[in-house]
Amino acid sequence: MVQSAVLGFPRIGAQRELKKVTEAYWAGKSSVEELFKVGKELREKNWKLQKEAGVDIIPSNDFSFYDQILDLSLLFNVVPERYSKYNLPAIDTFFAMGRGLQRPATDSSPAVDVTALEMVKWFDSNYHYVRPTFSKGVEFKLNGSKPIDEFLEAKALGIHTRPVIVGPVSYLFLGKADKDNLELEPITLLEKLLPVYAELLAKLKEAGADTVQIDEPVLVLDLPAEVQAAYKTAYEYLATAAAPKLILTTYFGDIRPNLAAITGLPVAGVHADFVRVPEQLDDVVSILAPEQTLSVGIVNGRNIWKTDFAKAIEFVNSAIAKVGAERVIVATSSSLLHTPVTLASEKKISSEIKDWFAFATEKVTEVVIIAKAVTVGVESVADELAANAKSIAARGSSSITNDTAVRERVSGITPEMAKRKSPFADRLAAQKKHLDIPLFPTTTIGSFPQTKDIRVFRNKFTKGEISAEEYEKFIEKEIEMVVKFQEEVGLDVLVHGEPERNDMVQYFGEKLNGYVFTSNGWVQSYGSRYVRPPIIAGDVSRPAPMTVKESKFAQSITKKPMKGMLSGPITCLRWSFPRDDISAQMQAEQLALALRDEVNDLEAAGVYVIQVDEPAIREGLPLRAGAERDDYVKWAVESFRLATSGVEDGTQIHSHFCYSDLDPNHIKALDADVVSIEFSKKDDPKYIQEFSEYPNHIGLGLFDIHSPRVPPKEEFVARINDILSVYPKENLWINPDCGLKTRGWAETKASLQNMVDAAKEFRASVSV
Ligand code: GLN
Ligand code: ZN
Repeated sequence: MVQSAVLGFPRIGAQRELKKVTEAYWAGKSSVEELFKVGKELREKNWKLQKEAGVDIIPSNDFSFYDQILDLSLLFNVVPERYSKYNLPAIDTFFAMGRGLQRPATDSSPAVDVTALEMVKWFDSNYHYVRPTFSKGVEFKLNGSKPIDEFLEAKALGIHTRPVIVGPVSYLFLGKADKDNLELEPITLLEKLLPVYAELLAKLKEAGADTVQIDEPVLVLDLPAEVQAAYKTAYEYLATAAAPKLILTTYFGDIRPNLAAITGLPVAGVHADFVRVPEQLDDVVSILAPEQTLSVGIVNGRNIWKTDFAKAIEFVNSAIAKVGAERVIVATSSSLLHTPVTLASEKKISSEIKDWFAFATEKVTEVVIIAKAVTVGVESVADELAANAKSIAARGSSSITNDTAVRERVSGITPEMAKRKSPFADRLAAQKKHLDIPLFPTTTIGSFPQTKDIRVFRNKFTKGEISAEEYEKFIEKEIEMVVKFQEEVGLDVLVHGEPERNDMVQYFGEKLNGYVFTSNGWVQSYGSRYVRPPIIAGDVSRPAPMTVKESKFAQSITKKPMKGMLSGPITCLRWSFPRDDISAQMQAEQLALALRDEVNDLEAAGVYVIQVDEPAIREGLPLRAGAERDDYVKWAVESFRLATSGVEDGTQIHSHFCYSDLDPNHIKALDADVVSIEFSKKDDPKYIQEFSEYPNHIGLGLFDIHSPRVPPKEEFVARINDILSVYPKENLWINPDCGLKTRGWAETKASLQNMVDAAKEFRASVSV
């Protein structure tokens, strides 16, 4: 019998119960007992749901109050002294590591003030994990029993689970050395860490676990030789009679380049992601010993589309033909953590489109059906297969997914469309004539504080409690206030402040054809922060201008240049659930054409500075260097240029990036007239060099918008001086790191005033 397996289930709850209780706990409004109770209820609900659906292999320890990697750090005692010194209850140390903790002294405890550990993107997903941080005194030991407790908790419910644990090589490789220990390479800690893993595994076996899902996702990355070699050391050490069987689990990519590292390991089986890389089947099979299991990840854990049963069954059958049914498991490609909990609460999506979707709960059933089809035979699930075939066919032939006008426009794209009319030098000359922009020009990245007032008004409007006219009036007043403020402070290139935008992608999605929105499709991004990604369901086009009204209004009330503000094609694509029936490139092209019309319309409306934000371009980079990555860079750059190249030389195109770990060559290829890059946290002077070859104009972010701290003018002056030692003054813009929407007005005003005053000082010193 081919077994069905789920690699992990969303822990947030269908009604975001986890967020509600953790935030209440942090606010002191909920007891620790209440917190634990809700956690337990969520786990129980998820296990039962999977059990009732008929899943054979149900995960445990996929639950976390914050992050599963942070769980491991606490469990292995990887707790830097700055946290442990307070002797807080374990759960509070855990949260302090995840999100920092600042609290005044009380009668019974001293004041606490500690920042969070670094948070990093989980591979190419939008989930973030808390980075294991190894300080000098790190002493591994088993510091708790969470995986065992949760296994026993399920067992008490009559549910036999397969615990999930991230394996030692990935755990170390995903970590970093702490500030006090910078010369340390985490992988060198392997031998010290292994006994603790062994102890944990033995305890799980004692508790009754026969198999453990041991995740080694770093196998999809480019690994240094010593990390590859660590697999043999680790898994030979762990394979003792005291340990349960291990299924070595990978996801999100191609493990072929690292197959040598896992060939011959004493594990019970290997799981690979065949949704992402079906081509790796033969090679993965080729390294398996005759007794090893193949777990076939075939139901996509990263997207919301129904699985095409016919195709999936065919694929699993081809795996069975190679290794035999008794060695195959049908599984989700990865944990379902990255998908919304259930489609059941979506009442607003049209029934035509809803029929194309499967969220986590529905995917659980899909795995079971596929396993049954390949074991008992397709007749046993004939109704399910027929219904599925009908949905897949309906989606394929729907006019929503096949907009002829959009398709024709995409095929008509020419290389010329992605080129500005003239080289940068000529454009700059035209812009100098056309726009009144001084030396050391000051600007902001787009948004101004999104006050409670704004959110309340937007909510009322969404609920229909106020009319469109009233809402529009309100937005105009906000814009007037922001424009007046910028003039008073003395900024040079103004923005309208984005008060009308809920989110930089959702706002555009709602105005484009082809996008669909969920009411409750939350996905954990980090800790208690969840996002509700829009879904690209069909061909994308722009039925009408999206931002022209606000930008034109803003320009009409000032003589200073107004900067129009758009989200770029890659950002709109990456921060949505993309289609799986056409390529990412084609989706980016469709978005780029829609944005190109918007850019041109802004220009026609008299807005001659236009910023197209691409913060997501970096994270879209394929995980491994090589052909796939080069190809991505090519079409990602092309789509940005396609969106921005329809304008005259005198119109100035800006772009913006929220990270600075960018490849300067990629930025250069965009050929934007001005780029702004988050930079304030780069304090090592050598980093300032990084973008010094950028031939056009550049603004290195001068203050951190995540913090309410107000840098004094002297700090801006010193920083600008540092930058000027490397960059020509003619090329330099003066701006913050990113948009100011999460800031309050008080610090926004003070910081911008100091920034502008610093710029004026430089301007004055040049003109004398
Ligand atoms: N223009 C956007 C803003 O200022 C940019 C946001 C971003 O880069 N993440 O809010
Ligand atoms: Zn940004």
